[in-house]
Amino acid sequence: MKYDVIIIGSGLGGLECGYILSKQGYNVCILEKNPQLGGCLQTFRRGKMNFDTGFHYVGGLDEGQSLYRLFRYFQLLNLPWQRMDENGFAEIILKDKSYFFASGYEHFTETLSRDFPHQDRQLKRYALFLKNVGENTLNNFTSQKENEFSVTSLFERSAYSFLQQTIDDPLLRNVLSGASLTMELCAEKLPLYVFAQINSSFIQSAWRLKGGGSLIARELAQSIRRMGGSVLTNAKVTQIVEQNGLVTGVQYNGEEQVEGKYVISDIHPALTLALIPESRYIRKIYRKRITDLPNTCGMFTTHLQLKPNKVAYRNRNIYLYKNQNPWDCGYSSDGKTSAALFSYQPPESDGVFTDNIDVLTPMHWAEMAQWADTSVGKRGKDYTDFKNRKAEECIGLALETIPELNNNIERFYTSTPLTYRDYTGTWEGSAYGMQKDYNHLLSTLLSVQTQLPNLFLTGQNLNLHGILGVSITSFLSCAKITGMETLIKDLNQ
Ligand SMILES: Cc1cc2nc3c(=O)[nH]c(=O)nc-3n(C[C@H](O)[C@H](O)[C@H](O)COP(=O)(O)OP(=O)(O)OC[C@H]3O[C@@H](n4cnc5c(N)ncnc54)[C@H](O)[C@@H]3O)c2cc1C
Repeated sequence: MKYDVIIIGSGLGGLECGYILSKQGYNVCILEKNPQLGGCLQTFRRGKMNFDTGFHYVGGLDEGQSLYRLFRYFQLLNLPWQRMDENGFAEIILKDKSYFFASGYEHFTETLSRDFPHQDRQLKRYALFLKNVGENTLNNFTSQKENEFSVTSLFERSAYSFLQQTIDDPLLRNVLSGASLTMELCAEKLPLYVFAQINSSFIQSAWRLKGGGSLIARELAQSIRRMGGSVLTNAKVTQIVEQNGLVTGVQYNGEEQVEGKYVISDIHPALTLALIPESRYIRKIYRKRITDLPNTCGMFTTHLQLKPNKVAYRNRNIYLYKNQNPWDCGYSSDGKTSAALFSYQPPESDGVFTDNIDVLTPMHWAEMAQWADTSVGKRGKDYTDFKNRKAEECIGLALETIPELNNNIERFYTSTPLTYRDYTGTWEGSAYGMQKDYNHLLSTLLSVQTQLPNLFLTGQNLNLHGILGVSITSFLSCAKITGMETLIKDLNQ
C-alpha cells in the first residue's frame, strides 16, 4: 500500500499531524504499536473505573486564548471540558500554608497580592510578562518575526534566575514555581520560555476533561478516518526504509511494508534514528548527539481508587511541597518523597464526589536502572516492594493533605517511568521528553527536519511538551510538507 505520509506513533503529535495533513488532502497512515491510541493520552481501566496515564488538565481553552484556536481547528472544543475553579484552579501548599492561583492575569495578581501585599508591583509585572508570552505563543512559532517575547530570546534565559531577578521575596518565588510539576524544575537548565509559556496558559483558564484524555485521541482518530486516512493499532514500526538518501516507507511488526512519500515520527528522536539501519546520509555525529541528549525525569503515579460517595470532588489541583521548595525536584535530603500533585477526576455524572485521585511525583530514571532490562509483569518482587514503599509515601502525603481520604481508599495502582517506557516507548520513561537547556539551546532544541529530506520529527521532544506545546509542533512538522502559509490560512478560517 502506498501513502502520501506515514506517521509513526499515535500520541497527540502523531494524531494531530494526521488530522492536519488529511484536511489538506494528503492520504495518511498512522501506525501505533499499542492496542490503544493516544500515547500519554491513554486511559486504562480497572474494574469500572478509568484512570488517566499522562494528560490531566489543559490551559487556555477560553475563546481567543492560546489553545482555543488550535482545538477549534482540530474540532475538539465539543468534548466535555470542565472549567476549573476560577478562584483557585491550583492550590499550592508550602509547608502548611495554602496559596491559590486564580484564573485571569488580573485575578491571579489580586489573589496572590493578598498574601504578598509588599510584592504587589512585582506581581503585576510578572503577570504582564506571562500575558505577553501567552498571547504570542502560537504566532511566535509560526511567524519568522522576532520581538521582545521571541521564543529564542526567552529560551536562552534561565527561568530560575528570572524569578530571582524580578521577585524579591523568596517565599513568593517558590509560590510562583508551585504549579510546575507539569515540567521539570531544574534550576541549572530550565529555559524561561518553557516556564512562562506553561504557567501562562494555565493562568489564562484551566480545564479538566470529563472522561479522560483518551477522548481527545478517539475524536482525532475518528476525524482522520472520516477524511479517508488510516489509523492502525498493534502496528509497531520496526524499520524506516531508506534508499539513496530518501525514505521510501516503513516496515512494521517485522514483516509488513508500507510505502510513503514522507514519514513523520512522533516517537523519541533517538528511537527514530535507531529504526534506520546504518546510512551514509545520517552522520554518526548527528546520531550520537541525539542519543546522548539528556531527558527530563519521569513520574511515579499512585492512582487511588476511592470508596463510592465518600470523598468530595475538588475542582482544583493541589500541589504539596513539604520542603517549601519546588525546585528540589520532589525529594527531601533523606531521599523521601517531598512533593506531589493531587489531581481529582471529575465525577462521571454531575455528582459531588470523586471516584479517584491521582498522586503524581517526579521520579528519576536512576531509580529504575536495576530493572531496566525487565519487561511488564516480569520485573520481580523487589520491584513490587519498591513500588509499594513509594506508594505508601505518596499515600501518606495524600492523607495529610486530604483528611477525608482516611479509610476511604479502596485500592491503589501505580505506574513508574518503566511503565511509560514499555507502554508509550518514551526514552527512559521521561515524562516531558528531551530536556531543554538554556545554556545549550542549539543542541537541545531539535529541528523537525532530520538529515533525510523527507523524514520529519514531531511530538513533545522537540520544542515544547504538554498539550499546547505538542499541538504547536504538529503545525511546524506538517509545514515542512505543505508550507506554513497554507496551514495558517486553514487555521484562521
Ligand atoms: C505523567 C504525565 C502527566 C502529564 N500531564 C499533563 C497535563 O496535565 N497537561 C498537559 O498538557 N500535558 C501533560 N503531560 C504531557 C503530555 O501528555 C505529553 O506532552 C503529550 O501527550 C506527548 O505526546 P506525543 O505525541 O509527543 O508523544 P506520546 O504520547 O509519547 O506518543 C508516542 C506514541 O508512539 C507510540 N510508539 C512508540 N514506538 C512506536 C513504534 N516503534 N511504532 C509505532 N508506534 C510507536 C507509542 O505507543 C505512543 O502511542 C503529562 C505527561 C505525563 C507523562
